[in-house]
Amino acid sequence: KGERLRLPPWLKTEIPIGKNYNRLKNTLRDLNLHTVCEEARCPNIGECWGGGEYATATATIMLMGDTCTRGCRFCSVKTARQPPPLDPDEPYNTAKAIAAWGLDYVVLTSVDRDDISDGGAEHFAKTVANLKERNSHILVECLTPDFRGDLAAVEKIALSGLDVYAHNVETVRELQRYVRDPRANFDQSLSILRHAKRVKPNVLTKTSIMLGLGESNQQILNTLTELREAGVDCLTLGQYMQPTKRHLKVDSFTLATETIVWRN
Ligand code: SF4
Repeated sequence: KGERLRLPPWLKTEIPIGKNYNRLKNTLRDLNLHTVCEEARCPNIGECWGGGEYATATATIMLMGDTCTRGCRFCSVKTARQPPPLDPDEPYNTAKAIAAWGLDYVVLTSVDRDDISDGGAEHFAKTVANLKERNSHILVECLTPDFRGDLAAVEKIALSGLDVYAHNVETVRELQRYVRDPRANFDQSLSILRHAKRVKPNVLTKTSIMLGLGESNQQILNTLTELREAGVDCLTLGQYMQPTKRHLKVDSFTLATETIVWRN
């Protein structure tokens, strides 16, 4: 007890290299953009950014800087009460960069900005609009904060022209206080997903939970039921990985990644 668990062999992955990977990395630096793939030190970065002959090239861009106003216990993104102001050129720059990469699918996400009145919803919406104007074929997913339950902010993004509205409940109801920042909770997150579906029924709603934090099978099943009742279309389940020694420990290694898409 108290020791870190050993990584099972199926979780180990190749170091990312390749032309597409380097191209993305260079443009990101030039335009001062951040990605969750890098900030969260995701081990699958090579696969996602690499694309390749058969794979869909995708990337997850983090808007509104690299500093979050919250401090979830599983997340390695830096935090501050008052991060630097938003870059007003970011929606334009992001759209320009993504159009140049020729991606098929892009995920726009952000840190939480509780210091901004609309939480950055307008900034998100502008980015989507700019992007769709340059390339109407690219599929856009927005993975948004909870905006402290501000449904007007959710509406702004849901009506921006995106294809998938995502917001993560992160873990089962019972572990919310242990895992997430105290300003987040399960019901608030469900209300975000429910509202996005209500204002734009043909947009897919999506969420994610991490496994391996100590949740029981029954708690997972209850979560699936509650998500389905809220009209969520798609759920991804992923193994929690402890990013540094200061973060929550892994309780168990259960699975790599699984996606469930519910069909109506
Ligand atoms: Fe990380 Fe939590 Fe901030 Fe999201 S809200 S970036 S999970 S600290």
